[in-house]
Amino acid sequence: MQSQALDLLHSVFGYPAFRGQQQAIVDEVAGGGDALVLMPTGGGKSLCYQIPALMRYGTGIVVSPLIALMQDQVDALLEAGVKARYLNSSLDAVTQREIEDLLVAGELDMLYVAPERLLTGRFLALLDRIPIALFAIDEAHCVSQWGHDFRPEYRELTILHERFPEVPRIALTATADERTREEIVERLGLQEARRFVSSFDRPNIRYRVAPRENGRRQLLDFLDAHRGEAGIIYCLSRRKVDETAAWLSEAGVEALPYHAGLDGDTRMRHQQRFLREDAIVMVATVAFGMGIDKPDVRFVAHLDLPRSMEGYYQETGRAGRDGLAAEAWMVYGLGDVVTMSQMISQSESGDDRKRIERLKLDALLGYAEATRCRRQLLLEAFGEVYPQPCGNCDNCLVPPKTWDATVAAQKAMSCIYRSGQRYGAGHLIEILRGETGDRVRDMGHDRLTVFGVGTDMDATQWRSVFRQLLAAGLIEADPEGYGTLRLSSRSGPVLKGEVKVWLREDARPARGRRTTKSSPAASGASLGIEEIEMPLWNELRRVRAELARTHGVPAYVIFHDATLLAMLRSLPQDEDELGAISGVGENKLKRYGKDFLAVLTQAE
Ligand code: ADP
Ligand code: ZN
Repeated sequence: MQSQALDLLHSVFGYPAFRGQQQAIVDEVAGGGDALVLMPTGGGKSLCYQIPALMRYGTGIVVSPLIALMQDQVDALLEAGVKARYLNSSLDAVTQREIEDLLVAGELDMLYVAPERLLTGRFLALLDRIPIALFAIDEAHCVSQWGHDFRPEYRELTILHERFPEVPRIALTATADERTREEIVERLGLQEARRFVSSFDRPNIRYRVAPRENGRRQLLDFLDAHRGEAGIIYCLSRRKVDETAAWLSEAGVEALPYHAGLDGDTRMRHQQRFLREDAIVMVATVAFGMGIDKPDVRFVAHLDLPRSMEGYYQETGRAGRDGLAAEAWMVYGLGDVVTMSQMISQSESGDDRKRIERLKLDALLGYAEATRCRRQLLLEAFGEVYPQPCGNCDNCLVPPKTWDATVAAQKAMSCIYRSGQRYGAGHLIEILRGETGDRVRDMGHDRLTVFGVGTDMDATQWRSVFRQLLAAGLIEADPEGYGTLRLSSRSGPVLKGEVKVWLREDARPARGRRTTKSSPAASGASLGIEEIEMPLWNELRRVRAELARTHGVPAYVIFHDATLLAMLRSLPQDEDELGAISGVGENKLKRYGKDFLAVLTQAE
């Protein structure tokens, strides 16, 4: 059996070896057992049911909530020579009928269906008439109310087990949250299923968090290092999405907006362009991303704080599914902490919910302000221990300096207290720095004892102090107010000198660096492609783009970047050599081999 699985992996998918627990999962399900698979995004969940579906007699039925995703998966399977189709509301009645006929005639290896369709009496009756290889329940966390993508239809999927008890089931999710996992087991009746829990680490993603100084310039600098690459930029509000997309376009970046306020057509068009073209930057609210399994997203940038660590993990997880180097980057500042605190205080939720939200925000702020390995912190949030610092996050690469900020914290707190706990950071910093603006003088704040006690630091440094004190809960934002700061229950011990405060020294971005328009069209820069390899790399991408156009599929359905990269490095000269490259299966070799070899044999 193992060798059959491996044969399929080679011949259909063109991969040399299984990854992680894939082999064990395939064996379990191909042998008729149930499985619960917890694997991070990009871990390779699809093969875990696709290969058993091909090994077992009958059709594999895959339940998936996401129309775009189904279509992508089916496109990719068809390219690999697998007889796959999908059924969902996007198809007209005639096409649906044709697919049902294929199903009943035993012509399908795999059928993807939306849950609401699967659960209709009509469809279940069809299933009674055919041999079923397995049921795969993708995005299984949709069954959970605690998680963020609850779909009521998922609850009814227990019917599959009752009606077809002999058919193996495999449920899959990338949710890292323990509570959601337990709900999946319970709701889908998977107590007997074997559990396969992978590490949730995404080693190819580099995590970076920077304090916001000049947000736009920082973003442009970041994008400069990712030119010619696809990425997602997340913003909190629709307005910010629109504004950011507009000014990025003006700055020469191919950026498109995506949020729930745009009409369906526009959203669809932007999504399609993002999927099909090589280097679109999608500026979006979190409405975008779920079910987008574009493998070559090279970066995810957060211009606003996400809601929770789980949200951050899911959103950043959309980068680098192909396993190649990718970056998760976030900027945030004092104002964001104030805004988020206020949003929680002012929300309609009950006190319990608010407390949970507050805890989630605190965990996230702890992460943002951390001075130690971010990967360790991120995985700890999901109960996983990562033994060593990772070497691939900003804190590992450039360990931040910390300084004894006890006296500065005391000055900041006294200033808040003496001015009556009614002002925001801007005004407080003017007092500390002894600046006699109109407002300071009108309020008589130039006569306070704290006036001018902080001239040893500039305004940016003071903002950093206020931000970090706020993030640590040593001071707080007035929930009703307009960004005004006040003391918290934890300020006292600091003011009395009972505890010391250590803060991180924010890295200052170099000024005026962005004048040089660095090297030309550096697409593939983050993949480590050298200048000298550029012409061939661009040729390979051009061939791929042309094939994608003629076949009407996204470029990555033809070949992933990882596969192109392997071609670039090993320069195969004939079909045998090309077929040995990871990602080149028999079917694709037959279809595209010639076109790529034409380019590769020209190269020296
Ligand atoms: P998930 O659904 O877990 O997010 P996918 O099934 O989409 O992940 O797989 C992620 C990527 O890894 C895909 O591009 C897939 O082709 C690739 N992949 C999966 N398994 C292997 C393997 N054994 N060897 C090489 N690449 C693989
Ligand atoms: Zn690290």
